[in-house]
Amino acid sequence: MNESLAALLSLQEIDTKRARLLRDLQRIPREQQQRLAEVDAVRTRLERGREEGKRMRAEEKNLELEMKSRDEKLEKLRVQANMSRDTSTLLATNHQMQTIKDENAKLEDRALGLVDRINEVERDFDKQEKEVAKIQELYNAFAENCEKELAETKQQLETLDRDKSGVTVKVSREILETYNRLFQARDGLAVCPIDGDVCSGCSTVLLPNDLMKVKSAKDIIYCKSCSRALFVQK
Ligand SMILES: [Zn+2]
Repeated sequence: MNESLAALLSLQEIDTKRARLLRDLQRIPREQQQRLAEVDAVRTRLERGREEGKRMRAEEKNLELEMKSRDEKLEKLRVQANMSRDTSTLLATNHQMQTIKDENAKLEDRALGLVDRINEVERDFDKQEKEVAKIQELYNAFAENCEKELAETKQQLETLDRDKSGVTVKVSREILETYNRLFQARDGLAVCPIDGDVCSGCSTVLLPNDLMKVKSAKDIIYCKSCSRALFVQK
């Protein structure tokens, strides 16, 4: 095979591997970020739940205080009622007492509702905490793997870069530029074999003259249709 063509084939093989590794270099940190965001989201949910629990506990405490102060007021009114000799004052006091009792009943209902909600929210804390710990643990293992994979990828890239330098010196600048352009434009297939008398890259039938030249492999022959460099597969 023509030496330049052989070099281009090696180069294509190297560049294909490089492209995959370069994609990995982008993909790995991106995946790691996504996983981290998932861990953060679960933790944030737990923290919000805790805040909500605290807020409800404070609200419940306020309700208790409010009920207590009303009970004290009620007690004072009860003493007043017992001492009262006057019917209209007694009626007014009784009415006041009933109002306070009704209000307290409503507060009591609210407090009980809150306690139910608090229990419900706090019951989930344990479960969520375990979930966070588990997700965090999985993430740590994943991150460790990512680091390892990244280091390996970089190392492989360095090796390929060295290989690439060794091969590119065997090809003229003009041929190399054409190859580079084709590699980009033709999805990483700049050099391809012929299949009988057909370019395997674009399925165009070669002219007899071109077919002969490809077979002789003295020069690099490019497909008239897709411009790929052609060779005969041994
Ligand atoms: Zn072609």
